[in-house]
Amino acid sequence: MASLPKEINDLTDAFSSLPNVGPKLSARIAIYLSVSAKDLAKKLSESLESVINNISKCNICGNVTNKDICSVCEDDKRDKSIILVVEDSLDLINIESTREYRGVYHVLGGVISPINGIGPDDINITSLVKRVEDEAIKEVILGLNPNLEGDSTALYIKDQLETARPDLQITRLAKGIPVGGDLEYLSGQTIIDSMKSRINF
Ligand SMILES: [Zn+2]
Repeated sequence: MASLPKEINDLTDAFSSLPNVGPKLSARIAIYLSVSAKDLAKKLSESLESVINNISKCNICGNVTNKDICSVCEDDKRDKSIILVVEDSLDLINIESTREYRGVYHVLGGVISPINGIGPDDINITSLVKRVEDEAIKEVILGLNPNLEGDSTALYIKDQLETARPDLQITRLAKGIPVGGDLEYLSGQTIIDSMKSRINF
């Protein structure tokens, strides 16, 4: 029985490890890159090497950055007493595009998801608790997506924050975010509305 060369199988395995990419598609991409699209493969290889070497998480908020501290945390004009907690950097970028929010962020890098084996220790919760303990934070806004995992993550964080700082104001985004909606895809106006009408949590 014929089989594919080891090099292609290794690449297929790597693609298969990506979320939502099955083995068939992985093998097809691996063959395509190896045979028909060597220029693209080279570009991918260079881009991957560049992100591996240059991109990391902001030491303060966990946002992606090519420096130690991200551009938001570095900005002296931001209000450092309000932290908006988001699931990932794409949510942050979408909120930034509204130019409405002047506080800072905390990027969790995921949500608690027992079914996917992601527990509280696998996302940036400890560093958030440390921030509210160490810094003069007045309010934490929970800007997680309104679905089962987002809601249970928000509840868990609320619990941790209340234990650490009973005086802290904890709010969440409200109006306009549809249940099951994803912050990453919401329009700017929807985000602005939900920010303005945020409620105590
Ligand atoms: Zn940052």
